[in-house]
Formats: sequence, C-alpha cells, structure tokens
Amino acid sequence: MTTKTIKPYDLAIIGGGINGMAIARDAAGRGIKTFLCEKDDFGSATSAWSSKMIHGGLRYLEFYEFSLVRKALKERDILMKLAPHMVHEQRFILPHLEHLRPKWLIKMGLFLYDNLYKSQFMKKSSAVELKNLSIKPSFKDGFEYSDAVVDDHRLVIELAHEAKRKGAELHNYTACEKVELKEGLWHITLRTADGKTKLICAKDIVNATGPWAEKFMKEHMHLNTNKSLRLVKGSHIVIPKLYGENKAYTFQDENGRVVFTFPYLNDYTLIGTTEEEHKGDPNDATISTEETIYLKSIISEYFGKNLTNDDIVWHYSGVRPLIEETGKDNRQTTRDYSIEHLQYGNNTLINIWGGKLTTHRVLAEDVLKSLDYHKTWTATEPFANAVNFKHFAHGLINEYPFLDETTAKRLVKSYGKRSLDILKDCKKDKDLGKHYGNGLYEIEVKYLINHEWVKKPESVLLFRTKCGIGMTSSQIEEFQTAFEALINPQKEKPSAENSA
Ligand SMILES: Cc1cc2nc3c(=O)[nH]c(=O)nc-3n(C[C@H](O)[C@H](O)[C@H](O)COP(=O)(O)OP(=O)(O)OC[C@H]3O[C@@H](n4cnc5c(N)ncnc54)[C@H](O)[C@@H]3O)c2cc1C
Repeated sequence: MTTKTIKPYDLAIIGGGINGMAIARDAAGRGIKTFLCEKDDFGSATSAWSSKMIHGGLRYLEFYEFSLVRKALKERDILMKLAPHMVHEQRFILPHLEHLRPKWLIKMGLFLYDNLYKSQFMKKSSAVELKNLSIKPSFKDGFEYSDAVVDDHRLVIELAHEAKRKGAELHNYTACEKVELKEGLWHITLRTADGKTKLICAKDIVNATGPWAEKFMKEHMHLNTNKSLRLVKGSHIVIPKLYGENKAYTFQDENGRVVFTFPYLNDYTLIGTTEEEHKGDPNDATISTEETIYLKSIISEYFGKNLTNDDIVWHYSGVRPLIEETGKDNRQTTRDYSIEHLQYGNNTLINIWGGKLTTHRVLAEDVLKSLDYHKTWTATEPFANAVNFKHFAHGLINEYPFLDETTAKRLVKSYGKRSLDILKDCKKDKDLGKHYGNGLYEIEVKYLINHEWVKKPESVLLFRTKCGIGMTSSQIEEFQTAFEALINPQKEKPSAENSA
C-alpha cells in the first residue's frame, strides 16, 4: 500500500457520470483546480442505461411540471448547438387512444410542448394518419412530435474530453473510500484498481454519485442529510429492427406508464422502459422476468408481433435516483434535480439529488453558482469536436472511400472532428488494422486505449462503441484476446532470452 499527498485542489468531484463530468467541465473552464474520481469506468452507471433522449419530457406535463419541461426543452436546443454531431432530432409517433384522453387534450399538450420553449431546430408537432406505418391497422390516427436522441455514454465521454481540455484531472477506476474534514480541507482517501490508496485534499467537494449519493453521504462521509433517494430501476430490451420507418413511438399503458420504441444502431429497435423499485447496489440491477414480459406485451399489443426471449439480442437496466416525495408513486415523483449546499466553516459540500441526462449542463451551472461562481460560459461554447453530422460524414466517406458508410457515420456520430485523428494515418483499408467484426477496427481500439481512458474490453464493445451488440460470441472472444495484447503489449512479446 502506498500513500501519497499532493497540493490541494479547489474542487473534488466524486462520481464520473453525466452530472459529475458536466460539473468538472464547467469548473475547469473557469480556471478552478478540479479533480474527479469514478470508481468504475466513466459514464458506466445510470448515465449509460437511460432511454437516450434529450427531451423536455412530454409526460411531465400531466403532472404540471411546466418549469422542468421548459428548462429541459431549452437544454435540448443548447445541446443540439454544442454537440450537433451526436444530438439528433427524432420524430415520435403518439397513437391516439380515445379511452386514455381526448384529442383536444393531446393537441393542447403538444401545443405547450412546442411553445413552452420555442426550438430553433425542431419541427412542430402535427396530427398524422398511421395507415402506411408498421403499427397495427386498428390504430388509425395519432400525432407526431419531436425530441432529440443521443448516445448517453458517449455524451459523458465527450464531456470528459472537454473537462480534460480545460484542465480537469480525471481518474476512472478510482473509488472514493473516505472523506474527512480536517484543518480546513476535505481529506479524501481513494483506492485505485491496483489496490493502492492515495490521499488528496480539496477545499470543496461535490457528491455526484447518482444513485449512490445517500449511501455515500452516510457511509463514506459519516454525515446526515434530511434528503433521501428512491431507487427506481428501468430496463430496456434491444431486438432486431422491428419496423422500417425512421420514427420512434410513444405508447402509454392503462396505468399511464410510458414505453418508447426507437430505431437503434441501424439494425435494431430499442424498447423501454419500466419502473420497479430497486433495493441493493445499483450496479446489480438487471431485467426481471416481469419487465421482459411487460415490454414484449407492448410490442404484441401495438405491432401484433409476439416476441420470444430469443429475439432479445441485448438488454440493460439502470437505476434512477429519484428524490423521495411522500405520497407520490414512481411515475409521479419529480425527475428534476435538487442541489444541497452544506457549509462547514470555509468548506462546502454539495450533494446532487436526482436529475436527468438532459439537464446535466444547467445542473452544473447551478452547482457552480452555489459555489459563488456566477459568470456562466457552458451554454455558448460548442464542444471542440463539434461538427455538422451530415456534411462531415459526407466528407469522411469521400476522403476514406475504403471505409464503409455505416462505420464512417458511426465514427462521426461518436467522435465528431476527432474521427480524423483516428484515421489520420490511413491511406488504404489495410491501414485500419485488424477487423474484429461489426465495423470495429484495430485503429479505433488503439485510439480508445490511448485517448479515451479505456482499460477493459467491455468498455470498447458495449460502451465507447456498441459494436459488441452485433458481434458473434467467437468474434467477442477473439477481440478479448486481441485487446489484452493491445493494452499490454510487453506481456505478449517473448523476452529476448526466450526467443534466443
Ligand atoms: C431507465 C432510465 C431511463 C432514463 N432515460 C432518460 C432519458 O431518456 N433522458 C434523460 O434526460 N434522462 C434519463 N434518465 C435519467 C438519467 O439517466 C440520470 O438522471 C443520469 O444518468 C444520472 O446521472 P448521474 O451522473 O447523477 O449518475 P450516474 O451516471 O449513476 O453516475 C454516478 C457515478 O458515481 C460513481 N460512484 C458511486 N460511488 C462512488 C465512489 N465511492 N467513488 C467514486 N465514484 C463513485 C458511480 O460508479 C457512477 O458512475 C433515465 C434513467 C433511467 C434509469
């Protein structure tokens, strides 16, 4: 065990999900000496398991959450400006079910959705006939509206690049074990993946541990709070492409629960989500039989297709950290965040309770305001990698004709301008290196290891790229062996003595 101390930071952030990373970006951009640690990989908890929408939240209108919807709609536009390569408009179809609510009420809701914040980018909602679509012919008409979609995990990584560029120090696979206030500083004990402990100090600290926030306060800081979290699991299933139209669908069941279907990764349909109370560690959340049956039943009801478990190529579950509100069920509980500011002499502790993927930027701004930094900057400075998706993808396909179109588009959506860094030495297809399957080449994996904090094969397959979803089990096995050789090249080379 080694213990090392270094010069104090101004701000330490515990948790490298969307919220922690957004705070790191904002703080570092103001010249604040910022440290962030994440116990696993960046963005590998709740922020990787969402429905991937950057949205105002049409259904929150039902609970009169107008200010949350307005705030989130505004953020949707800001994110489309900051990261146009990765945040894209998606049209949603909302079939009309007379017994749930009359048309005039839906029209009014959509009017509010279009106008609570007037988007610069989104098409307005409209009434539509459903006759040429894949939904069952018994659903005759409905409405269409816009929201945006994003690869949630990649958005965290994009923020990590930005935070690092602005000077933040970021450490994944580094758990915060203990926090104590001594001699005017937070003393923070960390444990790295190799079992070593390290001590750092900071003037202020942010607890951005998402669904772990309450536990972290109590068990790692030994402090009390009057807030408490309700952990609500949501699961998604991925199946081979269910329909041809490039539309998402919004369905509401008899209990008012909403399920979406999205076109996903060219060849698939993503279906979710559910709401089940979760006990235990958020990392252990996994889809239950009831959730699978429920999601399959929605597809049968609306598309007339009876899915079997063999149709499910992937599934994932995440845990929402909702702020406990007595008397409200999971659906009614607010999705807004709360920032708790606790002052101990000159030192501040900020706890983040709740929140959405969509509102991470403004949440970070509110945290910095709470720390007395009032001049804002993050809404107007696009990410350094930002490019116009269509134009840039077109250019990339022309410049690298040996790259298939699907892979070229995936690279632009994932890396923006940095896709040129990945491809810079490629003159012909051989220069892409080994192809592991489903458009994943050696050159990209090397880039991920060298520039995107990747230390494990699953970070490549299921997080930074989603190529693993379309690979066969033997391709995955081969990739895992190849990955070890790439990340640890010395191990593979025979020593001079052995090869002599
Ligand atoms: C099923 C589902 C669907 C959703 N869909 C949407 C959607 O479509 N749109 C939307 O806007 N929002 C959506 N959300 C909400 C959104 O995903 C979350 O609000 C958001 O990801 C929370 O981010 P976070 O950074 O607070 O938490 P997390 O992403 O969980 O990050 C917290 C991090 O802290 C780390 N950590 C914990 N303890 C320690 C420690 N001791 N030391 C170091 N690190 C630690 C964890 O490993 C974790 O990575 C959805 C949520 C769920 C569950």
